[in-house]
Order: sequence, then C-alpha cells, then structure tokens
Amino acid sequence: MSDLIEKLRSELGDAGVLTGADAEEKAQGGWSHLGTPLAVVRPASTEETSKALKLCHAAGQGIVAWGGKTGLVEGGNAEGMIALSMERMHAVEEIDTVSGTMTVQAGAVLEAACDAVEAKGFFFPLDLGARGSATIGGNISTNAGGNRVLRYGMMREMVLGLEVVLADGTVLSSMNHMLKNNAGYDLKQMFIGTEGTLGIVTRAVVRLRPAPSSQDVAFVGVSEFDAMPRLLRHMDVALGGTLSAFEVMWEDFYNLVTREPALGKPPLASTHPYYVLVESLGGHQEEDSARFEAALMAAMEEGIVTDAVIAKNQSERDAMWALRDDVGQVAQNWPIFTYDVSLGISHMEKYVATVKERLAAEWDSPTTMIFGHLGDGNLHVIVGVGDGEPEARRRVEEIVYSPLRDIGGSVSAEHGIGLEKRPYLGWSRTPEEVALMHTLKATLDPKGILNPGKVLEPGLKVAAE
Ligand code: ZN
Repeated sequence: MSDLIEKLRSELGDAGVLTGADAEEKAQGGWSHLGTPLAVVRPASTEETSKALKLCHAAGQGIVAWGGKTGLVEGGNAEGMIALSMERMHAVEEIDTVSGTMTVQAGAVLEAACDAVEAKGFFFPLDLGARGSATIGGNISTNAGGNRVLRYGMMREMVLGLEVVLADGTVLSSMNHMLKNNAGYDLKQMFIGTEGTLGIVTRAVVRLRPAPSSQDVAFVGVSEFDAMPRLLRHMDVALGGTLSAFEVMWEDFYNLVTREPALGKPPLASTHPYYVLVESLGGHQEEDSARFEAALMAAMEEGIVTDAVIAKNQSERDAMWALRDDVGQVAQNWPIFTYDVSLGISHMEKYVATVKERLAAEWDSPTTMIFGHLGDGNLHVIVGVGDGEPEARRRVEEIVYSPLRDIGGSVSAEHGIGLEKRPYLGWSRTPEEVALMHTLKATLDPKGILNPGKVLEPGLKVAAE
C-alpha cells in the first residue's frame, strides 16, 4: 500500500496526496458517513486524475470520488479505500453566451457555478438545499434533481457533454456542445446517476437558460390532499409554462420550520393539513405577477385553496424558500432517518397514512415529517423513532419502502442508492435491469475498483428478493 501511495505522490506531488491526520480531516463534515480513507488524492487536472486511476487500476485499489460530500446515502464512504477529491478541479472554464453553454470542472461548487452564469445574464436552473457545497461532478454522478425539476428537468437534462476518466485511466472525452447529437450511443448517460461506479467525471458541458426576469412566490394552505394535485394542474395551465416549483409540506414539517427554535416565521396561520410553495419564473415582472395573482384568486374561488399569501418583495420570496430549505431544523431532531421516495401522486395520500400507521403500531409517538416535490412524484420522508438504534433503522426502511413495491414506486427519487439503499435496489428495479447493471459494471470496471460496493452488491448477478 505505501508503495502505491509513494507512486501517487511522485505523480501528483505532495499537495495531491494527503495521508494520516490530513486525510482524516478531509473525511470530516460529510452529510453521511465517509469512513477513514487510506489517503485522499487531489488531482489538479484530468491528466493527474488519469494517472491516479491508472496506478490504482494496476494495484487493484478501490477508489471513491468525492465532490461536496453532501450525499445522503453513503455513496462517498471510502473506508479503507482511496478517496479522490475533485476539490482542486473547480474552475468554470467557459461560459459561451452564443450557444448558451458552460464548460466546467467537476469540483466546481454548484452555487459558485450558478453565480458565474448569472453574471453573464444566464441561468443554470439546478437548485437544491446543498447548493453551497455540492459540486457539479457530484450533481452529475447522482443525477441531482431538487426544486425546479418540474420545469427544467434533472441534471441529466442539462448535461450536453462530459469528460470522464475510466477505471484504467483512459480519458473519454465527449465534450459535446450541441443539443442534438444522435451519432451513435449517447455514452455520457452511463456516467450520469451512476454514482462514480462506472467512471470519474472530470469536466462537463451543461446547457444554460436565459435568466428569468420575474419571480413570483406564494405560500398556500389547502385542506385536503386532493387539492394539491388539482392546484398543480390549475397553476400549470393558468401560468402557461412559467410554473417553476411546486413544493408541498405536510403540517408537521411546516410547524417544525415555522416555530421556535426555527428562525422562520409562519407566512400563514398553522391551521392547514398541507401547505404548498408555488413559484413562477418568467420574463416580465408586472405581467407575470398579475397572471400569478389571478391564477391563485381563481384557485381560491374554485375552493381548491383555503388560504394564500403572495410574497411582496425579494426578501419575502427568499424567506418563503428558506422555510422549504431549512434542513438545519430537520437535523435538530436527531436521531432521524431520512428517505427520498417516488410514487404516483394518486397513491401518495394512502402511502403516507400506511407508513404512519405502521410506525405507530411499533413505536410510541414516532415523528414523521413529509415534504417534497409533488410534480415529480417525489416525497422526502423524515422519521424519528426511539434512539435511532441500527435495528430500528432496518425496520423503518422496511416500513417506508415495502409499500412502494406494489405501486411501482422507487426507493430513491433523487439521492441515489449508495450503500444505504443497496439492499432495496431490487424493490424498484427488475432482476433483468439489475443484471444488466452488473454487466455494465463488469465491462467498464472489470477489477471493481470504482466506488466498490456502492449501488450494486459485489458478485451478485441477479437482484435478491
Ligand atoms: Zn428534494
């Protein structure tokens, strides 16, 4: 092992290889367990990334890519392996204002990339709670979703080209800038959402959008679940394509983020079972605001909405979004288990009731907080039971995931599989799908050195029942 570390050091220099206490320090502060890596390798270029992979490949050494370390499913756990931090490759290389594209290195922090784009009068629409630490490379390898998928799609829809280093160090350059390119297989898709198990993303070309010049945000209270999908449809039609977010909150979540010790103030009285944050992004503030208000008024007249408040200025808009993003409050209630599931909107109300019932049957006063992206069929489910003991975790997973099997839901809407959800992959994918995933893995990474053990169970060809 020390032999490999020495070789890495001679290729990447002292700043490129951290060991001992320096490596341990880098493994702190992750949103899920990162383990203790043998070393943290920090390439400053694609060429250095390739050299590192080549050496690890020759040595059969497992290597785990790190971005902002804000993944939630132990996808970055590098226990006993080499961590490959992309933190030195953080440049925004080019913003092309003619074709509307950005060429960016994998380690660029999402928020910094968005700011650079904004300074050029463009908009990169990916937005999520971890924006200040999550990296573009991490967003690609997890196919990040977030708050505006409804309008702009997930990361997959924004990536035009990729540069990837394969397991053996081969650099695969697929830095396409065009929206249309059907010359053969779209290879980049293999590296989007595959959590660093098939290759390491080093650079990307992403699609930019025109910067919106209007933003309208409202907070809405509704009295029954069915009103939420009705409101979604109503607003989508009435706004003629400018609806950009439709974030739902069950009352437990709303109360948590609007009552002390939370800093957020309740925009509406706390008397509704469900709340929705609705956002529109458009091109003309006055006209868009008038349309937005009229659409909400109509929803009230039709009885879909019980109560609503429209933000009057930017600080009120930001304050409404801050409630939705207040992960700090959620984390306060530790120990908690966090889940991220997808299911059809028509199944949601019954699903939530079933989960709550089953939890209450096994624990005294369990807490559940539910919020999510209704238009995407994506709910975030936060559960607090007992002292957070590991046996409880397995049982809660069973309760949260098992009802999804019969209704064609997914155990992972946007957080990925990592280590944490691996036992349940076969609950959302068919045995044939999982077998093909193993075939791809074996082809692209025959020695199994890329993020070993994540997503797929090593050695297994068919999903376990
Ligand atoms: Zn989310």
